[in-house]
Amino acid sequence: MKQREIAVYGKGGIGKSTISANLSAALAAAGVRVLQIGCDPKHDSTRLLTEGREIPTVLDYLRDVPKDRADIDRVLYTGIRGIGCVEAGGPKPGVGCAGRGIISAFEFLERNRVKEKYDILLYDVLGDVVCGGFAVPIRREYADMIFLVTSGEFMSLYAANNILRGIRSYDGGERRRVAGIIFNARDLPEEETRTERFAKGVELPIVARVPRSEAFAAAERQKRPVTETAEYPAERAVFRRLAAEIIAGLPLFEARPLSDEDLERLVLGSETDAKREERSVPAAETAAAAATVPGKTTATAEPRPPAARPALYGCAFTGAATTAVHLTDAAVIAHAPRSCAFFTWQNISSPGRKNLFHRGILMPSALSPRFECTEINRHEAVFGGTDKLRRRVKEAAAAKPGAVIVVSSCVSGIIGDDVLSVESLSTPETPVIVIKADGDIGGDYMEGIDMCLYTLAEKLIDPSVPPRPLSVNVIGETGVAYDLDVNYRTVKGLLERMGIEINCRFLGGARTEEVRRLTAAPLNLLASDGEDNQKLRAWLERRYGCRFLDGCIPVGFRETRRFLEQIGEFFDRKDRVLPVLREEQQRYDDAIRELRSKLAGKRILMTTINTNMDWLLETATAAGMEFVWVGVLNYLRKEMKITDFPERYPVIEEVADWPAVMEKIRRTKPDLVLSNYTSAVPPGDYLLDNMPMTQQAGFHAGIHTLRRWATLAKNEREGDWIRDRRLFETYFS
Ligand code: SF4
Repeated sequence: MKQREIAVYGKGGIGKSTISANLSAALAAAGVRVLQIGCDPKHDSTRLLTEGREIPTVLDYLRDVPKDRADIDRVLYTGIRGIGCVEAGGPKPGVGCAGRGIISAFEFLERNRVKEKYDILLYDVLGDVVCGGFAVPIRREYADMIFLVTSGEFMSLYAANNILRGIRSYDGGERRRVAGIIFNARDLPEEETRTERFAKGVELPIVARVPRSEAFAAAERQKRPVTETAEYPAERAVFRRLAAEIIAGLPLFEARPLSDEDLERLVLGSETDAKREERSVPAAETAAAAATVPGKTTATAEPRPPAARPALYGCAFTGAATTAVHLTDAAVIAHAPRSCAFFTWQNISSPGRKNLFHRGILMPSALSPRFECTEINRHEAVFGGTDKLRRRVKEAAAAKPGAVIVVSSCVSGIIGDDVLSVESLSTPETPVIVIKADGDIGGDYMEGIDMCLYTLAEKLIDPSVPPRPLSVNVIGETGVAYDLDVNYRTVKGLLERMGIEINCRFLGGARTEEVRRLTAAPLNLLASDGEDNQKLRAWLERRYGCRFLDGCIPVGFRETRRFLEQIGEFFDRKDRVLPVLREEQQRYDDAIRELRSKLAGKRILMTTINTNMDWLLETATAAGMEFVWVGVLNYLRKEMKITDFPERYPVIEEVADWPAVMEKIRRTKPDLVLSNYTSAVPPGDYLLDNMPMTQQAGFHAGIHTLRRWATLAKNEREGDWIRDRRLFETYFS
């Protein structure tokens, strides 16, 4: 006969294992070679076929034996009538992932080509949950005949309907492989009628009716299926008949699950003869299909509003871990597979390496943090990784870091590790803080940053600390930006000239102790004014009564002057402002004079996704340069303010696409092209420079940038900046 793979699904405790064993025995009695595979963590599917012996499960065996040395005969047992018996097994309740366990068991059986020796493979599967793992037997490459075992109880019918949904989502209505319902009576009032209503609703036959009978308990006491006893001919006949029909070829049907509403109405309600002409596909599919037809929408098919902010295409795990390492005295533990930690480490350390390359400075300590990984492997993915995590946390805590921070990944989230439980390992000196980021399940990169910041704030900030009246906090440095430390040092220097110190950087290279005393500073300064920082600001104001300076870390002469005036006002130190301003104005004017001699007359074309570009527009114009065109790439379709003085720069305009930029370059023939996307600009008769996403803070942001152009160009020596290949290529290599 043609090899068949039969899946018998049903709610836990409904009797599907007894039914599976009886069916296997009846098939074997008809001369078919049967392999029964129990896919229920309870691992008692084959007990009746092995005369009551408990056989080792695949997962228990693979737990101790490396897969390249595993021997299939240790888990494949021969039961009555030569029936092959395998139990997939599962982790202990509450840990790991039983679904993943089934996948591992199937892989093992495939590797050993077990299937080839049998005519029928019968999978006995728990149908309460149809997650990816439990759904393996109904994947296309496995079951080609599926039975649903159910009683007339609502939860049992509900599970049967869910299984149909699982099948439908694999088959999409294109394949017929559901053989029908096996009704396992419980002797409940009206249960047979209810099951018949359900069968009618899902358009499936009831292929067998197993009566409520003492025969099954009696056979169980004899440790064999009822079909193998002499006493119960009626019960035996049910399975022998079904086996014969399977061998002869049962008709197969499409999975047509009911909506929850229909299930309740048809099965529980009074509407016994409900008409379902309209329902040819599940409601959710109809809605989805309607949503793709222009002009046709339904209430459930409403498109979701666009996300409030652009996603950064990293996961919450990466965002949270990349942020957590800014707590410089903490040990950060990634509860993740090694690969997740590797890519995150690259993300953390690459800006530091760039700094090394470009500036010849050493990697700041914030960029070489204590970052470890529990290295969740195949084994923990199945059996759970909480114990391993606890061990790692204890080891890390033994070195007495300021805190141990655990960041969870997709994998720990999916297998349901109880990561929060390790917080109980906290001591007064070393708190253990869990960021339950759960990788991509938890959200995107930005959401991971938020999770980390808010969790650390909640766990560490101590509002009872005494005030430090002449100090400020810097808030929201977050991502490891190119200029993070440079900008911090600039702001710190400016504040020191005013006699003000930095109390805490939340979070950009702070010690645990500094975060604890965050509320000690009377004033806070936002590092940048992005949406997420504004949200953080509002939260800190609400939660801890923090006060914030208007604006954020200043860029350029005008903004920095205003910043110092505000600081002078707030701390009642106005007398210190004027001398600083005089000194810096003098330096600025000297620099402009020097740069004019090198850059005056050069024509700039700029494309930007940045806002607030006055620091550059003003300095370059003061040095005698000309902006021939400024194209604002407004990908987010939000208001983008480039300058406070639009009348001075009529060449600023929004640009929709990159070809328009190319056309402008061709037409205006600039000496210098500035862009956030230099790699998209082809080489030409112009100098090409990168527009950093993060600007350099302070009075001399523009001067710093112009100096680079002058250095790159060296036009005072060679008079031709296009030929200055050596410096140019070094810079971009
Ligand atoms: S999305 Fe998940 S698997 Fe990928 S890096 Fe993040 S945590 Fe790891």
